[in-house]
Amino acid sequence: MTSQPTSKLSQLEHLMQQIIDSDVCAELAAQASQLVPGVGNPDADIVFIGEAPGKKEDEQGEPFVGASGKLLNELLDSIDLTRKNVYVTNIVKYRPPDNRDPSSKEKQQFVEYLSKELAIIEPNVIVTLGRHALNSFLPNLRISEVHGQVQTEQDSVLLPLYHPAAALYNGSLRQTLFDDFMRLRQFS
Ligand code: URA
Repeated sequence: MTSQPTSKLSQLEHLMQQIIDSDVCAELAAQASQLVPGVGNPDADIVFIGEAPGKKEDEQGEPFVGASGKLLNELLDSIDLTRKNVYVTNIVKYRPPDNRDPSSKEKQQFVEYLSKELAIIEPNVIVTLGRHALNSFLPNLRISEVHGQVQTEQDSVLLPLYHPAAALYNGSLRQTLFDDFMRLRQFS
């Protein structure tokens, strides 16, 4: 009997279970309600990567379901996409207490799992949301200088964008984010 190839969805589920079983970032895990796995279409052409779950994400166990997620949905709608077309995840899969920035050590512990997550999905483009996600791939680039400009890193194509939360705090970035989002049309 030949064995069936394992679906991308079950590979992703297995990967998330590995994070739990291997006690990755035990300190954050102990303070969070639950692991927040990536969600969306495992065959997506476009993957979005944020930094870490916030309060709502921690409660619901899904990335980008709070205010930033609402803006992300509007941005997707502006290029005729929905969350069902794309895959959305974070570098760090547990909420840092009080929504503080994840530390370098915390991010480092998740990098290997993020690489495996991307290797399963094999997107055409990786969209980094904010400086934490950008600098996990390209540590020397500044978001203010490269946002909206396609970058290549080894075999991957990256599009660095401002984090939706930045546009919620600073209204002038909102239009920039919508303009930069147009670059994604070529990948979907
Ligand atoms: N900000 C992030 O970076 N990720 C989320 O899931 C929510 C807010």
